[in-house]
Amino acid sequence: MSTATRLVSHEGLSRMMGNCHVRFLGEGARATWTPLPDQGRERYHSFTYKEYGNGARLENGYLVLSKIGRLAVRWSRAVEGSIKTVTLSNEADGWYVCFSCTEVPAQPLPPTERETGIDVGLKVFLITADGQMVENPRHYRKAERELKKAQQRISCRKQGSNRRKKAVQQCAKKPQHVRRQRTDFHHKTALALVREYDVIYVEAIQPANLSRRPVPVSDGNGSYLHNGASRKAGLNKRIHDAGWGHFLSILACTAAWAGKRVEAVHPAYTSQDCSGCGERIRKSLSVRTHVCTHCGLVLDRDENAARNIHWRGQRLRGVPAMAGALNREPVGL
Ligand SMILES: [Zn+2]
Repeated sequence: MSTATRLVSHEGLSRMMGNCHVRFLGEGARATWTPLPDQGRERYHSFTYKEYGNGARLENGYLVLSKIGRLAVRWSRAVEGSIKTVTLSNEADGWYVCFSCTEVPAQPLPPTERETGIDVGLKVFLITADGQMVENPRHYRKAERELKKAQQRISCRKQGSNRRKKAVQQCAKKPQHVRRQRTDFHHKTALALVREYDVIYVEAIQPANLSRRPVPVSDGNGSYLHNGASRKAGLNKRIHDAGWGHFLSILACTAAWAGKRVEAVHPAYTSQDCSGCGERIRKSLSVRTHVCTHCGLVLDRDENAARNIHWRGQRLRGVPAMAGALNREPVGL
C-alpha cells in the first residue's frame, strides 16, 4: 500500500453513506489489499484516499490508482461538486469506490410554507404532527428468516466443498441486501417529507439510550424479579429495525440539498407531556396510547410526541414559551 492510503473501517463507511457507489469491473486492486482484522459481525475491507488526486484520480471515466493502474467503473450516477476523498471497499458482491464531494450544487424544492414535527413510531416507521404515518418495511425480520435458512444450508454442506463455499457467499450477501433496501426506503421517505414541509423538527434522540437493557430488579433474596427485559428486547429490535439514526442523517442531507431545514429539539418528556394541555402523564414504553386525565385528550402515543416536537420547534423559533395550547400558531403555518 502506498503512503497516501489509509486503512479505515467504520469511519470511512459512514462517509460513504449518501454518496455514489460505483462497482469495479476489474479485480486489479486485489493484489495490494491487506485484509482488516475481524471487525465484529460485519467485516469491511475499505480504505480511503484522503485527498483526491493524491493516489487516486479520475481519467476519462476510469479510476486511476497509483501503483495499481486504471480500473473500469460502472457508474451509479454522475459525480457532482468537487471530489474530496476516495474510498475503496470490498463488499460481499464486489469492489466499490465512493467519492465524497463538497460544493455539491443544491437543488431547492419549492417552499410549501408548512412545517411539522416527526417522531419514530414502534408500530409505524414514523408519524408526523398532523397524524400522517409511514409504515415500517420490516426488512430485517424478513431477511432474518432468509439468513437463518442460508446458515442452515451452510451447515448441511460438507466442509471445504465448493457447494459450501457458495452457500457462505450467498449468506454474506443477505445483510448487504437489507442495508441497501433500508437505505433506499430512507431516501424515499426523506424526500417525500422534504417535498411537503419547509421545516421538520425532530427529537435529538440517542438510539443507544433506548436500546439499553433494563436495570435488573433484585427481590432481596439473591434472585431477580421480572424486569421486562424480554419485552423490551422485542421493542429494541424494532427500534434497530427502523434504523432511525441512519434515517435522520439522510433526512438532514436531503433537506440541505433541497434548501429545507431539519431542526432538533430537546427530547425530554415528548412522549409523556400532553400535547393538548401540557400536563405530564407518566407512562412506560409499552403504553401505546396517550390518555390525558387533565384535558381528556386521547391520542396515539407517537402522534402525541410528534405534536410536542412540533410545538417545541416553534418555541425554538422564538414563539414565546407557554404551556400547552396557548403557544400554538394557526394550523397550516
Ligand atoms: Zn391534556
